[in-house]
Amino acid sequence: MTLDPAERLARLLEAARGWPPPTLTTPWPVLFSGCLAGLRCGVDGSDNGPHPLMERLRVLPTLRLVAFCPEDVALGTPRGLPDLTGGDGFDVLDGRARVLLDDGTDVTGPLVSAAERMVDVAQREAVRFAVLMDMSAACGSQVISDGPRLVAVRKYRVGFGVAAAALFRAGIPVVAQRDHRTLDHLLQRLDPTGPRLDAPVDHHERDWYREAFPSAPKQ
Ligand code: SF4
Repeated sequence: MTLDPAERLARLLEAARGWPPPTLTTPWPVLFSGCLAGLRCGVDGSDNGPHPLMERLRVLPTLRLVAFCPEDVALGTPRGLPDLTGGDGFDVLDGRARVLLDDGTDVTGPLVSAAERMVDVAQREAVRFAVLMDMSAACGSQVISDGPRLVAVRKYRVGFGVAAAALFRAGIPVVAQRDHRTLDHLLQRLDPTGPRLDAPVDHHERDWYREAFPSAPKQ
């Protein structure tokens, strides 16, 4: 599977075209980051909101919501702020990078275990895809922080968080909450008569992303 965001998201839509239409009796099971599902599982005990598009998606009767917060499972809520150090989520899974809290505590092991549990849940529920919160050390799928974010100048890098990487390796397509072009296409399947998003673009097509990563590599 490719990690290039354009190709990766195009493959999700290609796969979705082959799925039977979701119905009231056979809704699509979809995995959501817990906070995007409205759970108050953010580091500060909030739902990291508001997320109007997520609120619209998660109440559709053609969608069966499966919510999971890997950081809450790993560390509880509230908690310190975890960030990736020395690589991305794939590097963490392969033992080449770590996840550290803002006070320096190493939480790599619990995060990896929680990511594996998230994969177990996703497979047990046979989710079609996962909608995950970007820029999280666990759930990011387009952009993550490069080192601790509570510094004078926060650094970013293209990449996956730990849970997103584990899901990707398990063959579960991942879309970020900011990937509006892709979500709009999925919304069309889930809610064919509902309104479309206005001029939607995916996160890697936005000005911020292009300016932050001018040579935006194929991942
Ligand atoms: S780990 Fe994921 S689900 Fe949990 S608060 Fe962070 S972004 Fe949301």
